[in-house]
Amino acid sequence: MSHAASSSASVERVPCPLCKSTKDEPWAEENGFHCVRCQGCGLLFVNPRPRAESIDQGVKLGVHTVESTALDVVGSRSAWKVPLFKEVVSSMFPEFSRGGRPVRWLDVGAGFGELLESLQAVVPSGSVCEGIEPMIPKAEDCRRRGLAVRTCYLADVRERYDVVSIIDVFSHVPDFGAFLSEIKGVLNPQGEVFIKTGNGADIGPRSQLPDPLTLPDHLVFGGRDHLKRFLDEAGFDIVSVSAHRMDGLRHTIRNMVKKLVGKPVCLGLPYTSPARVLYIRARLRSLS
Ligand SMILES: [Zn+2]
Repeated sequence: MSHAASSSASVERVPCPLCKSTKDEPWAEENGFHCVRCQGCGLLFVNPRPRAESIDQGVKLGVHTVESTALDVVGSRSAWKVPLFKEVVSSMFPEFSRGGRPVRWLDVGAGFGELLESLQAVVPSGSVCEGIEPMIPKAEDCRRRGLAVRTCYLADVRERYDVVSIIDVFSHVPDFGAFLSEIKGVLNPQGEVFIKTGNGADIGPRSQLPDPLTLPDHLVFGGRDHLKRFLDEAGFDIVSVSAHRMDGLRHTIRNMVKKLVGKPVCLGLPYTSPARVLYIRARLRSLS
């Protein structure tokens, strides 16, 4: 077999991160890794999966080294996200514009700080917006631009917050249920999570998802119901969901360019893919 992953000791077979089923079927292959669909709940996840040490190293440095193939996933700041996030947060947190009370907001996996930048213009005055980002080059970039971003993990955070946001974090986390438990540890009573992720598991064959899967940087792809179930089991109720398509004309043209340089994209006609970006606002259930 040509793929480096499956025969190597650097990977391990895992049950479904959501329903724990050990039955899965092939769905896609990329960069020598297999993404499977759980036969129990339909979740998509990398299996066999890089071992924990390898995932951890990739998260810190932004480079995955699997069988000497380095996959650079640091990327760069996307200025266009700032106005988009402003619009989405304003519409999903309508109380902010009505002069609501200040909030303490922690952005986990702050990346290049696009969300934190957008929050400055949206949250009520007196609010505190901070971030943590384990990838050293990203966190340093944020600090250079004056954003309050620390290089650490959630487990290192001692303060409490009203909202924890996780933007494009879901797919990087091997055990999202455990991650939500950690998030609860830094939330005030009735605290909230704000999630942005794709709906990969809601689509049919791989060919309906235009973008590269970026395996094994991305380990899990959920859908609406998977996110709802993860949240429900962790004690969160969904407040609102906003779904956005990603296959507009510009996106399609960009993917045509990617295809030309050999990136693993799936080209389709614009505005035909069932793929969506999901923004989910959920609140901790009160213990009554
Ligand atoms: Zn499952």
